[in-house]
Amino acid sequence: MPAQIAVFTARSDNFGYLVHDRETGRTAAIDAPEEKAILDALAAHGWTLSDILVTHHHGDHTEAIGPLKARFGARVVGPRGEADKIEGLDELVSGGDRISVGALSFEVIDVPGHTLGHIAYHAPEEKALFSGDALFSLGVGRMFEGTPEPMWAGLKRLKALDPQTAVYCGHEYTLANAKFALSVDPSNESLIARAEEAKGQIESGLPTIPARLGDEIAANPFLRADTEALAGRMGLQGADPVEVFGALRRAKDQF
Ligand SMILES: [Zn+2]
Repeated sequence: MPAQIAVFTARSDNFGYLVHDRETGRTAAIDAPEEKAILDALAAHGWTLSDILVTHHHGDHTEAIGPLKARFGARVVGPRGEADKIEGLDELVSGGDRISVGALSFEVIDVPGHTLGHIAYHAPEEKALFSGDALFSLGVGRMFEGTPEPMWAGLKRLKALDPQTAVYCGHEYTLANAKFALSVDPSNESLIARAEEAKGQIESGLPTIPARLGDEIAANPFLRADTEALAGRMGLQGADPVEVFGALRRAKDQF
């Protein structure tokens, strides 16, 4: 029986997610951006929080761990590589590990770069990926920790998943990302279509999430660092994709 996924806004531009297992009634929050937003979403569905799956250590993803744990006694799962930066973790995981929430199974994928120990949670049977701040729609997280090489390697792991996978990311950044993407890849038809779609969604008061992974692979310039088109646009014909990716990330920082 498939999971039920609730999408809601938290803080100003964070996304909050609840993943509910119909079989056992367990409900996991992906990250803990804001207590009230999560409580409201739980109440709206009549669910009780049983688990929190944390992607990385930033405060806008971890702030509500303490209060939610105190209220529900929820199990908190988080990145082994950031255990010293996140309070309240009960279970540590890293790339290749699997965790269960009731009958739902998640595999953990290492996606370093935004932070060094950043992980994503992939539910293969649900065809759902919770990418935190590693992969956004039409963009990627700012590279606060680390270097382009491991960050590109992590994104390649995501690119290898089923293209039908729905991507649930940490922030509503799609329109801003589309502006940069169009500046470096202006004639990409998939990108033009996705940017239009996102504009319509925002105008209708809808989230631009989830994005389909296959659409992201075709439209997101950071996932296209290994294409001749993007290498050419960055003046790096024939260069290693890592170099193209690094140049794209620097260009976005200055955009
Ligand atoms: Zn972050």
